[in-house]
Amino acid sequence: MDTRPGEDAVPLRRAKGRPAPVGLPWPQVTQEQWNDYRWQLSHRITSVEDLRGLCGFTPEETRLLSRVTDLYRAGITPYYLSLVRFDDPDDPIARQAVPSAEEYFGVEGGEDDPLEEEKDMPVPGLTHRYPDRCLMVVTNFCSMYCRHCTRKRIWALGEAAKTEFELTKMFAYIRRHEEIRDVIVSGGDPMTLPTERIEYILKNLRKIPHVEIIRIGTRVPSVLPMRVDDELCAVLEKYGPVWINTQFNHPREVTAEARRACDRLLRA
Ligand code: SF4
Repeated sequence: MDTRPGEDAVPLRRAKGRPAPVGLPWPQVTQEQWNDYRWQLSHRITSVEDLRGLCGFTPEETRLLSRVTDLYRAGITPYYLSLVRFDDPDDPIARQAVPSAEEYFGVEGGEDDPLEEEKDMPVPGLTHRYPDRCLMVVTNFCSMYCRHCTRKRIWALGEAAKTEFELTKMFAYIRRHEEIRDVIVSGGDPMTLPTERIEYILKNLRKIPHVEIIRIGTRVPSVLPMRVDDELCAVLEKYGPVWINTQFNHPREVTAEARRACDRLLRA
C-alpha cells in the first residue's frame, strides 16, 4: 500500500487541536490506514525502546522500565498514543498506557490476583463466584495493556486467545449450571478477537436457554474505537441484546472517534 502522505494523511493532533509533536512514529499514515483497526493493531507500540524518544526516558529509566515490561508487557495503539501529552509528566492518558517504575517497585507489595478470581475458577478461564453470574476470560490479548489492570497476571501467559476446546469446557459448565443467567465475556479484550470468533462465543451462549444476559467487557471504545465496524455491529445485533461494559477514565478519551464507536454500539 502507498503510504506517502497525501490529501488523506492523518493530521495527528493533540487535544485542543494542537499538532502532535514531531516524532510520532507514523508521519505518513493515511486516513484509511489510521481508521483500519488492523493497521492500529499491527503498529502498536510494544517496547520501552519505542517509547524512549517520545517520553524522553534516560538510559537508566529505559533499563528500569524494560524490567517492568519483562514482567508486565506493554502495548499501546497509535490512536491512544496520539492522545498523550508528552510534555506533561503526569499526563492521565500516559499514566494509563506507559509503563512506570512504580509497577516494578510495587511488585513485592501487590497481589497477582487482587480480586481472587482464580479461587472461584471451576474451569480454566471461568470464574463463578455469585450464583447467577459468571465471568469468561476468552483471550489474554488486549490492544492496549492498561497499567492499572487487575488481571496483569494473565499477560505472562502470552497473547493467546482461548481455543475452541477451552471455550467448549466453559460452555459445558454454564450449561450444567442452570442458576447462571448472566455471563460476562472478558479477557484480555474480547473485542480484539476476529469477528467470527466473537460470533462463535455469542452463538454458543445464546444456545443455552437459562443465559438471559450477555455482557462484553472491553476497552475498545476508548483505545481502539475503529474496531467498532459494520461487521462487528451486525454480529452484536444478531445475538443481542449484548451489553457492553467499558472504561473511559478521562474526558480526553471522549474523542469524535470514541463517540462514534459508542453511538454505533448503542444502535447495534
Ligand atoms: S483492556 Fe481490560 S483486560 Fe486489557 S489491560 Fe485494559 S483493563 Fe486489563
